[in-house]
Amino acid sequence: MITVDEALKRILNAISPLGLERVGILDALGRVLGEDVAAPRNIPPKDNSAMDGYALRWKDTFGASPKHPAILKVIEDLPAGAIPKKKVGPGQATRIMTGAPLPAGADAVLRVEDTEKDGNNVRILVPVQEAQDIRRAGEDVREGETVIHRGEVIRPAEIGMLASLGRSFVSVYQRPLVAILATGDELAEIDEPVTPWKIISSNSYSSAAQVSACGAVPLMIGIARDTREDLMAKFRMALRADVILSSGGVSMGDYDLVKDILRNEGNRIEFWQVAMRPGKPLAFGEMGGVPLFGLPGNPVSSMVSFEQFVRPSLLKMAGHRRLFRKTVQAVTLEDIKKGKGVRTFLRSRLEREDGRIVVRMTGEQGSGILKSMVQANGLVIIPEDITLVKAGREVTVQVIDDGWWATERPEYL
Ligand code: AMP
Ligand code: MG
Repeated sequence: MITVDEALKRILNAISPLGLERVGILDALGRVLGEDVAAPRNIPPKDNSAMDGYALRWKDTFGASPKHPAILKVIEDLPAGAIPKKKVGPGQATRIMTGAPLPAGADAVLRVEDTEKDGNNVRILVPVQEAQDIRRAGEDVREGETVIHRGEVIRPAEIGMLASLGRSFVSVYQRPLVAILATGDELAEIDEPVTPWKIISSNSYSSAAQVSACGAVPLMIGIARDTREDLMAKFRMALRADVILSSGGVSMGDYDLVKDILRNEGNRIEFWQVAMRPGKPLAFGEMGGVPLFGLPGNPVSSMVSFEQFVRPSLLKMAGHRRLFRKTVQAVTLEDIKKGKGVRTFLRSRLEREDGRIVVRMTGEQGSGILKSMVQANGLVIIPEDITLVKAGREVTVQVIDDGWWATERPEYL
């Protein structure tokens, strides 16, 4: 038996990031940047106006007031995008719109609200500071500056920045293609006519969704029957993926042939008993050079093992540096009892109550009770050497639903 930490260490050591590919920036959301992105030019490219108003020489506005306005001659009109042609001299001003380049000679902008139009002149009603309401060339980004770094996750802000740098394509880490294979004679496809002795292969779908949820791409291989021939055929189909995920057939039963198959043909697969509940049986290794996870068959075990071992691996392959779920400390509202020597992951629901974070278990914790996952937003992690936690004590909870942080309604509404 190996510990969860030991299993995770061995797995992550065997997994490396995939190569890079170029994608259009609208396809880059959530991907990991594969290059340093530097600015080819200043943004903004030129000094420009932050206001609709007048570009002028600030010294011309000394002591101006509504009673004693400074009168300036308007020599030009500059909508955004227009190129200034005239230099602003003493006693002169240029009408300017937000974003228009600052004309030569001007050293400040006054917003239109503080002026009055008077034929070809403008009355300046307040004094202006030097450089007032000018956006400087390069004040957002300087030419040559590295704005986004390799390894950073691309969010909407990064996509806006890439656009503003004129980058319509960008290099990102490839998304892992993950073959998903269920095994078992008792399994049925989702749309097969149901018979009372068959169960629908829910693992295929929960795994595929877990794969998608961490930004990887599921490839559905379907169900392999518990025969050597069918298992071999289906595993061969899976070889074109970057990762193979199978479920079932890794425990001690007579028909757990996955083990035999995987041991064959020069595959490097190890079968572990991991000291955890749920999820004790786990296979890991590689088949034809492709990393392979043999997850346990029970629906909850399969999902929990995915969370602990597969998700960090897929994130690593996709170039991410932050591989692990956030954990929070929460007060358990129930006593928790468990056996010694295993790390336990209890399906649970985090809630904010009276300014603290509390956690309740989501009912029956059997590894076949998928409903306990449906109601869960966290997994309470009880360490190996603990056998009892009394209600009211703090426990560590792995947050498996980031949406939990969102609220229905902020307090100020
Ligand atoms: P096994 O490890 O193959 O003996 O499977 C353990 C338990 O998980 C059995 O009760 C199976 O019916 C169930 N199981 C295995 N594969 C799936 C699957 N793809 N979807 C749902 N349940 C499964
Ligand atoms: Mg089976």
